[in-house]
Amino acid sequence: MKVTDIKPEVFAMAQRVQAKLGERFAEIDAVAEENTRRVMTAFQDNRVSDACFAGTTGYGYDDLGRETLDKIYAQIFGAEAALVRIGFVNGTHALTAAMFALVKPGDTILAVTGMPYDTLRSAIGISGDCHGSLKFYGVNYAQVDLNADGDPDIPAIKAAASDKNVTAVMIQRSRGYAERKALTVQEIGEIIKAVKEVNPTANVMVDNCYGEFTDVIEPTHVGADIIAGSLIKNPGGGIAPTGGYVAGRAELVERAAMRLTTPGIGGECGSTLGNNRLLFQGLFMAPHIVAQALKTAVFCAGMMEEIGIESSPSVFEKRSDIIQMVKLGNEQNMQRFCVGIQAGAPVDSYVTPEPWAMPGYDCPVIMAAGSFIQGSSIELSADGPIRPPYMIYMQGGLTYESGKLGIMMAVSAMLDK
Ligand SMILES: *Cc1c(COP(=O)(O)O)cnc(C)c1O
Repeated sequence: MKVTDIKPEVFAMAQRVQAKLGERFAEIDAVAEENTRRVMTAFQDNRVSDACFAGTTGYGYDDLGRETLDKIYAQIFGAEAALVRIGFVNGTHALTAAMFALVKPGDTILAVTGMPYDTLRSAIGISGDCHGSLKFYGVNYAQVDLNADGDPDIPAIKAAASDKNVTAVMIQRSRGYAERKALTVQEIGEIIKAVKEVNPTANVMVDNCYGEFTDVIEPTHVGADIIAGSLIKNPGGGIAPTGGYVAGRAELVERAAMRLTTPGIGGECGSTLGNNRLLFQGLFMAPHIVAQALKTAVFCAGMMEEIGIESSPSVFEKRSDIIQMVKLGNEQNMQRFCVGIQAGAPVDSYVTPEPWAMPGYDCPVIMAAGSFIQGSSIELSADGPIRPPYMIYMQGGLTYESGKLGIMMAVSAMLDK
């Protein structure tokens, strides 16, 4: 299947759907414009120059680009400090460094938006028995679930957070790979306010993955003490080749740096090996690229509505992450959807995604991704576990035009009975 195989009726459908999205797209563009202004201001205030793009080797002392980028991230996120590093191997790594910055043995870390993202469970010690997990070091874990409507359960959060052993509270902004909605930054602010009311010294951390630049403010603007995320998602703009970031209160960011490297060294070492320009350029692109991903997701919602398939969020719902959840109802539809997305990719378009037994899952998982950067999910991708309700999580799209082609391919594949 190739992009030249998109059915004529799917083109017609796409035209119909897109015609209804003008106003929605204008809202997304307005967010991108405001975020671009914020990013540009930070670049200019911090005097970004060609000298920032030179890399260091070895220990990486006095890396001008690395130090400038830390300041820029801090400014954009309204935080005291930030740590942006290619030495973070992924988002999980940055999040784990942030978690370790908040606790000591005997403390409790409290998740208040239900079960944390899959890969964090081993780091916390909820699942598995890893040497060096929070549990291994004597840190306890507690959890408050979202309520039946998928909203934060404020009374239950207040009750749980008032335990004096709770020194860290964790909020997940995005839906991740769970059947829940993303929390808006405003909702995150309300949780933080409730926590601080009953436990003013507890530090609140936000897993900001997939959320950056979908709104004009970030969790650090509404009181989050520390946030973390991945550079192969939103803030890397599809250009950063790897890495993660942490931003927040200076003392906590410093502690996260000591977890990333070693106590005593912190953020002062870490050569950038010629990657600085890509991290700057990616951040510069990020507000626009996130808008492209959001338009792709909204278009997907519109197309699914057109063929009678349930998906979330709906076209006009406010978004706080780039994920589109599509309830495909059966394995065959999941496979067809993924085959279409894969065939619409610029890279590896000729391979056919097959379900596989992925470590950490209790059932086969199917994934479609044809990205320039391995595993990058700011690029168009879709995946989901093959079990009821047969949900696919679709995200990314570096350009709306290519994202739209991918969705049209997926719809063509599904109609191809
Ligand atoms: C992607 C993601 C992470 C981190 O995943 P990595 O694959 O390690 O980058 C954590 N939490 C959420 C909600 C995510 O979407």
